[in-house]
Amino acid sequence: MDTYDYIIVGAGIGGIILAKYFEEKGLSYVMLEASDHVGGRINTTSQHNTCFELGAARVLSSQHRVMNLISELNLELEEQLLTDAAVYLEGMWHDSLDDLLSSVDYPDPFELFHALLDKTGIVNLSDFERLAPLEWDRVLTKDWLESEGIPSAFSMRYFLGDIDVTMNQITLYESMYFFVSNLAASDSKVYRMQGGLSQLVNTLSGHIKSPVYKQQVEHVGYTADGVMVKTTNQTYQAHKVVFTCSLNALSHVELPSEANNSLTTCLSAGHYGKSIKGIITFNSNVFPSHDYLITEDPLRMLRRSDFHWEFYLPSLEKSWDTDKLIKQLHAYFGADSVRDLRLHTYDMPPFYGCYWNYKSGYFHRIFEFSKAQRLAERVYSIGEHFSLNPNWIEGTLESVDQFILSDSQ
Ligand SMILES: Cc1cc2nc3c(=O)[nH]c(=O)nc-3n(C[C@H](O)[C@H](O)[C@H](O)COP(=O)(O)OP(=O)(O)OC[C@H]3O[C@@H](n4cnc5c(N)ncnc54)[C@H](O)[C@@H]3O)c2cc1C
Repeated sequence: MDTYDYIIVGAGIGGIILAKYFEEKGLSYVMLEASDHVGGRINTTSQHNTCFELGAARVLSSQHRVMNLISELNLELEEQLLTDAAVYLEGMWHDSLDDLLSSVDYPDPFELFHALLDKTGIVNLSDFERLAPLEWDRVLTKDWLESEGIPSAFSMRYFLGDIDVTMNQITLYESMYFFVSNLAASDSKVYRMQGGLSQLVNTLSGHIKSPVYKQQVEHVGYTADGVMVKTTNQTYQAHKVVFTCSLNALSHVELPSEANNSLTTCLSAGHYGKSIKGIITFNSNVFPSHDYLITEDPLRMLRRSDFHWEFYLPSLEKSWDTDKLIKQLHAYFGADSVRDLRLHTYDMPPFYGCYWNYKSGYFHRIFEFSKAQRLAERVYSIGEHFSLNPNWIEGTLESVDQFILSDSQ
């Protein structure tokens, strides 16, 4: 049996970037992927010449790693103009979020955030890590905004456009972190990729050895000088193994006890929710000139063509079934309006849920764990969960950078 320098588990963007690094260093590796394709949670599909993102969709201008990667690969971005898009709020359509904000008499949440940072002397991310008061992690953002004069229903809708969690999960500590790292700059922008984000992984895969597909890793054990990794039907040997899947997916793998203990500690910092994305086709579109729908549920929809909408339920605690969803859509678009509904969920193998699902008082612990990639001797885990950008491709790239840095020292 061949003994590789590294086994990489998972062929998402993290595994692929890591493989590219091993290629450049002349290290031997094998990449094992449970599914039959690359990309993991980056998954673009197309219908009637329109791209739908069934996984990651947005890139923020402040995310310099992913922005650099996109520019190196000569891929094109297009701005996603959420503030100019019409939104459905409180049972009616508004021409734009900006119009809506200017028509109400509430303080601007972003100005309140700026004022709070001024008060604490935080001007950048490293200040945030040093100076942010931990008690913010006990305060829900919606409660704080309400105390500042913004009704909670309004603040919830305002933030759902940018953040992937519900207002009952997000603490002021996390909101402020996200604000400082991504939104504080007045020229920050939200992009989507022309032709879909899968181009990122497809272009990069041309530079690495093809993964071995349909290899779901189930067990890791030690040999005299390395590790033995068993999948459903094969055994592989290497000096080290690097997992790149979500921590929740990793919790389904039988690991050596030290690695298992480290994983349990990491998982205790939060728990995982599920995300659902999909494509909806309508018989007729009663809102042909409207682009973006945010509802209280929370449910977000982006119009991609006359009859097709991309649909997203962020990380949720409550369960949604198709019947309930269709009922809800009929309420917005009229009875029998839905022709086709295709959903993609992230709470089954090989994904098993993918988000940190924050609890009050836990976000700061993600900072503690953000660099803990070594689970045990020869067993590593990388991914956006070990970064200060959890839930973003940027976080995955940050984590790979950290691994490369520690590996080269
Ligand atoms: C619905 C949704 C929306 C998102 N939106 C955005 C967004 O707008 N912008 C953004 O930047 N990020 C977004 N993200 C997050 C982004 O997709 C991830 O941060 C990133 O793609 C993670 O890449 P990764 O390589 O670390 O992990 P993954 O993409 O999860 O790759 C891990 C791979 O490991 C494989 N695997 C799992 N278990 C095993 C096993 N036991 N054996 C073998 N293989 C295994 C999986 O099949 C998968 O291919 C979103 C994620 C989801 C789910």
